[in-house]
Amino acid sequence: MSEGILMPEGSKRQAGQTGIEADNEYALQEDGSYTCKTCGSVIMAAKVAHPVWDGPFPMSGSGKCIYEEVPYCPKCEKRPECSGSLVTPKGGFHNP
Ligand SMILES: [Zn+2]
Repeated sequence: MSEGILMPEGSKRQAGQTGIEADNEYALQEDGSYTCKTCGSVIMAAKVAHPVWDGPFPMSGSGKCIYEEVPYCPKCEKRPECSGSLVTPKGGFHNP
């Protein structure tokens, strides 16, 4: 890790604030980017992959992933896990 982290990972906030919470933590700039209200860092987006589990056997599937962009402050917040939860699409084998 060489991102100039100031705080131990364990004491950082949870990332992925949305709605009202994001409004409290992030400030919208004139150019459309967001900065952290706590430290002024530019808010980054981490890509979280949710593997699509649509095959007939446990943990099998087409190998597709659904990607989600999760906002986080690189200084105050934990970097979101890049592996998200499994998803079983409606109409698929596990979610008829
Ligand atoms: Zn911050």
